Amino acid sequence: MSSYVQKLMAEVKAKNAAEREFHQAVQDVAESLSPVLEREPHYRASKVLERIIEPERTITFRVAWSDDAGRIQVNRGYRVEMSGVIGPYKGGLRFHPSVNQSILKSLALEQVFKNSLTMLPMGAGQGGSDFDPKGKSDHEVMRFCQSFMNELHRHLGPNTDIPDGDIGVGGREIGYLFGQYRKLRNEFTGALTGKGLNWGGSQLCLESTGYGVVYFASEMLATRDQRLEGKSCLVSGAGKVAQFVIEKLIDLGAKVVTFSDSSGYVCDPDGVDREKLEWLKDLKNVRRGRIREFAERYPGAEYASAEMGGLEENPLWTRKADCAFPCATQNEINHRDAQNLLQNGVQLVCEGANMPATPDAIKAFTDRRILYAPGKAANAGGVAVSGLEMAQNSMRFAWTREEVDGRLKVIMKNIHEACLNAAEEFGTPGNYVNGANIAGFMRVADAMIDQGVI
Ligand code: NAP
Repeated sequence: MSSYVQKLMAEVKAKNAAEREFHQAVQDVAESLSPVLEREPHYRASKVLERIIEPERTITFRVAWSDDAGRIQVNRGYRVEMSGVIGPYKGGLRFHPSVNQSILKSLALEQVFKNSLTMLPMGAGQGGSDFDPKGKSDHEVMRFCQSFMNELHRHLGPNTDIPDGDIGVGGREIGYLFGQYRKLRNEFTGALTGKGLNWGGSQLCLESTGYGVVYFASEMLATRDQRLEGKSCLVSGAGKVAQFVIEKLIDLGAKVVTFSDSSGYVCDPDGVDREKLEWLKDLKNVRRGRIREFAERYPGAEYASAEMGGLEENPLWTRKADCAFPCATQNEINHRDAQNLLQNGVQLVCEGANMPATPDAIKAFTDRRILYAPGKAANAGGVAVSGLEMAQNSMRFAWTREEVDGRLKVIMKNIHEACLNAAEEFGTPGNYVNGANIAGFMRVADAMIDQGVI
């Protein structure tokens, strides 16, 4: 670690004590950027990195609501508006009991680089609440969303801040949030993305993150003259990202043998086919059930209960496969999991989730020079199609599914190329972590310098 990064990290830790996830995100970025800051001293003189890691604004607020039994519940809401220098703040809302300021700041920082990589005019933000939608009735979720928006609406707008979904926030939640926003503001504008198709949403908004991850993986494999067809794949998660990673992998002839939720994982040695995937989507999105039921429905599949995070290793990553697609949550692959994957001959790890690999797991992948893509590059397809939704809303026009898919493919191809070029230019060819951080940084840094010290 250079003395510059050491000093920066000491300051970050002193100023943001106990924000472990945020420290991890800053360190990842700072280490990658060392060669840039060395070669381009004006970035250091302008304290660009020091400014990027300080949110432009952090909003914390009370969310009080009544459950079905009439009891009053109190949650905490957040919005971290990290950077507005290349466009209005843009990024997800997460509803999960683990949500805190540290997690949201780390996600918001990732979002700065991710949104920059898409080349669309989008700044970065992230928000959410420690509210857990699991086990709540639709009416409870609606009342929570309405109360959450009662405060958040004053900070949003199509030219100010445009949230979208993340863990625990899907079409149902975006619908309730948008309905309340519209009522409070008395206007129909694209102040949220991920909207329903018949009320301002874009084609492929559900599929975009997952499809984009697989497009990125295909680009990576092509650099080694390989294809996804015939490859065995491990997927974690069973939510919005995982479902469409699985769908696109099936389309491209790969074999998906695992998926998971927070209670455990399923291994289906025969592979998940279209019919099984439709059943899984219905289970998770409509019936809101647990994946254990999949193994009851398809006896060829095995279910293993596993408290991710509670064990030294995640048993899902002990399965043998060519490719791994972590699509559940942060830090779901630790060093031991990385070693298990490598021992079993994994050739590619492509992140659907944000920051799913710990720093020592990332080091294990990059030291072995397997194809490893960080989420800030590989899962940028979701926010890219959100950007396309914003464009369509502004034009009051809608592109076809084919048009949006075509644009998504081009964006993912360009991000892949930008990462490879930046990694090569700064002396670490094939290192997508450095490539993504450097390429994402330069656009934001130059804009900050152009706009002065504010
Ligand atoms: P989701 O629909 O809520 O699904 C999340 C999945 O991960 C579920 O299977 C969930 O299991 C599991 N999970 C959540 N928290 C967990 C935990 N602490 N331990 C173990 N498993 C956990 O969320 P998503 O939208 O697919 O997001 C998944 C990841 O992708 C997140 O890292 C998110 O930041 C990232 N991402 C999402 C988007 C997007 O457009 N949605 C875009 C870019 C990146 P349960 O069903 O048991 O909760």
